[in-house]
Amino acid sequence: MKKQIPTIRGTKDILPREIRKWQRVESMAKKVFELYGYREIRTPVFEATELFEKGTGETSDIVIKEMYTFKDKAGRSLTLRPEYTPSVVRSIIKNRLYLKPDPLRFYFIGPMFRYDKPQKGRYRQFHQIDIEVFREGDPAIDAEIVEMADYFLKKLRVYDTKTLVNSVGCKECRPAYIKDLRKKAEEIKKDLCADCLRKIKTNPLRIFDCKVKSCRETAQAFPNITDYLCQECEEHFSKFCDYLGLYGIKYKVEPRLVRGIDYYTKTTFEIISSKLGAQDAILGGGRYDDMMKEFGGPDICGTGFAMGMERLISVVPFEKEKGGFLYLAYLGEKAKRAGMELVQLIRREGMECLIEFKKKTLKSQMSRANKLGATWVLIIGDEEVKKGKYQLKNMQTGIQEEKDREEILDIIQKS
Ligand code: AMP
Repeated sequence: MKKQIPTIRGTKDILPREIRKWQRVESMAKKVFELYGYREIRTPVFEATELFEKGTGETSDIVIKEMYTFKDKAGRSLTLRPEYTPSVVRSIIKNRLYLKPDPLRFYFIGPMFRYDKPQKGRYRQFHQIDIEVFREGDPAIDAEIVEMADYFLKKLRVYDTKTLVNSVGCKECRPAYIKDLRKKAEEIKKDLCADCLRKIKTNPLRIFDCKVKSCRETAQAFPNITDYLCQECEEHFSKFCDYLGLYGIKYKVEPRLVRGIDYYTKTTFEIISSKLGAQDAILGGGRYDDMMKEFGGPDICGTGFAMGMERLISVVPFEKEKGGFLYLAYLGEKAKRAGMELVQLIRREGMECLIEFKKKTLKSQMSRANKLGATWVLIIGDEEVKKGKYQLKNMQTGIQEEKDREEILDIIQKS
């Protein structure tokens, strides 16, 4: 036997049996997000490495440890996108979308790549549904995107969720917090892992992202960022919470929620599910008011979230497919030709039809139709071809009747 080529660790195939759920989730995302004025955007899977170094942040775990970076044949450093926001910001600047009258509200669905340690709910190629809003600084929009996510999840019948919120402050108030955080981390550094020790110097906020249990426990002793917010951030946060209440969204303030990416300002949030296990965040997001101008664009603020599709799909309940399909069973060449023509017409009526071009007995074709769950079976043999009338069997009731072409099309249309 020849050696099989292995699948790359942390990647997986999405097989036809699962794909229906993916398609349902994707079409629901489009439907719901467009109701709120969002439009789809698609950007390249790879970008210049510096885009993510600068956007995601040089001290983030993503940039330090998780990027798929490679040189192309011209020696340029490229990276498979680990997240979406920097790409959207780049695209807005390049295409000068901020000069157009359309709202700067975008959604995106596609794969992301992170060289993280694979485990349940964490993959190296995974998929995100992402939404981004620009030029809207009111905390009401932060609340609206959380409400939109909540509505989207409910439409998919995902109910067991919790909404966690926080504020990570801004350039004005965060330095004082970072100073105290660094001081506290220095005091208890014997309890931190080597990675966190490095973070004390580079960016102590990132200690909260550490996945080591003892570091997470130690981090409980750190000061809360919400005690350091300046007046503007404080007001933004309290209005955000107030608007969530207006929408009827229950939430919990979680002062440790700083998210793993460097660009957040003010609002951060996550929606988690108790059904997910250790990797329990279905989605996470927040505000990034400084990003656009740091990329050389206009000074416009941004906010948004990213949802992990693999995690979402694992909590979306299975839904039986609506609409049936017809299996065409035939015997002999003449019946096959008549069947091919009929199937063509039936498909034009919008019904799924399956005709399998294999030499099989009628009995085995019937048992296949049964196994596949066909709603109708159309049986054609020499006799039927001669008469121009065919046997149509309703697999739910078991009733089989002789019908001509027009009658069949009529029944299909009405079913
Ligand atoms: P982030 O871009 O890190 O804020 O993540 C947003 C969401 O993407 C998370 O809440 C997860 O649902 C999902 N996610 C992030 N990383 C992974 C991964 N390695 N595998 C699967 N899903 C992920």
